[in-house]
Amino acid sequence: MSTQRAFRIHHDAQGHRAGVETLAVPAPADGEVLIRVGYSGVNYKDALAGTGKGKVIKRFPITGGIDAAGVVETSLDARFQPGDAVIATGWGLAFDHDGGYAQFLCVPGDWLVPMPAGLDPRAAMLLGTAGFTAALAVQRLLVNGQTPEMGPILVTGASGGVGSIAIAILARLGFEVAAVSGKAELQDWLTTLGATRILGRDALPGGDRPLEQAVWGGAIDNVGGAMLAQITRTVVPYGNIAAVGLAGGTALNTTVMPFILRGVGLLGCDSVHIAQSLRNELWQHLASDWRPADLDAIRSDSTGLDGLPAVFERMLAGQTHGRVLVELG
Ligand code: NDP
Repeated sequence: MSTQRAFRIHHDAQGHRAGVETLAVPAPADGEVLIRVGYSGVNYKDALAGTGKGKVIKRFPITGGIDAAGVVETSLDARFQPGDAVIATGWGLAFDHDGGYAQFLCVPGDWLVPMPAGLDPRAAMLLGTAGFTAALAVQRLLVNGQTPEMGPILVTGASGGVGSIAIAILARLGFEVAAVSGKAELQDWLTTLGATRILGRDALPGGDRPLEQAVWGGAIDNVGGAMLAQITRTVVPYGNIAAVGLAGGTALNTTVMPFILRGVGLLGCDSVHIAQSLRNELWQHLASDWRPADLDAIRSDSTGLDGLPAVFERMLAGQTHGRVLVELG
């Protein structure tokens, strides 16, 4: 096949525009691998990029999609052979390098994770960057000494991709999970994933003193802004907060008190620039001991490339939940 369909994003004198186009299939250079993409997914960052509502792309035009999974077609990297199943997330995908919303993806071999036993391309993209980031957040908590005995873990933006998978992983690891969600209609779904308590976005306990009663063992926060600030005031001594997202804002208005009087840990999570050894380790966990019990329960929808703009709009309007799978095969 010499041409392929790809979801292209342009930003030039005519402004932002994006849609499906026909492109040449790239030829791999030394050290690169050409992948026949089977599946991708939709992350918040993909929605920002695809609509032009966030400045998350460095070079235009570009193929969107920060995730891809599929099978090696041609390899000029000795570590990969045709037919190998692989995962690509993060790195420069849909930032300064064409991403996964295409039938073929050509990337340096260093960007690829061999498919771990227990996952296939579809399962890997039900997880995608969202699942990988949830695993990273859990790993950050555990490395910093978080235990179930310290109390419930609060997960904000709970119905989103990162949030829903974080709930499933934490529940599997024996943590009590409290979910903060703006979607009251999804209570049953969040409970099925493993949350034992659901709070509305305005129902977080505590006032605005620098320290309030400590009620949470720790947190995985996808929202930022006032919600993250409130969490810092209400985490138990030596509890940890993994800061993942900004769905509710980028400001952080708190004081040093939680950090110097309670030893609270505020742990940053960046899923893009991450050592390959940790990347492989987290995917191994996702394929085995951290794998959500029912991956398909996290999928709310599937789409082809043509349906992406509508999914992006719904996601930015807060109308999606769980994971939207992108099917390319
Ligand atoms: P989703 O859109 O799937 O989930 C975000 C969730 O946040 C929504 O489902 C909603 O949950 C909640 N939310 C949305 N808007 C608001 C708001 N204004 N105030 C409070 N809550 C809100 O996105 P993802 O799960 O893919 O990503 C979550 C966040 O993490 C994003 O900010 C994303 O940019 C970031 N991220 C960061 C990564 C990193 O490497 N640090 C990697 C991946 C994602 P509900 O309705 O249940 O409240």
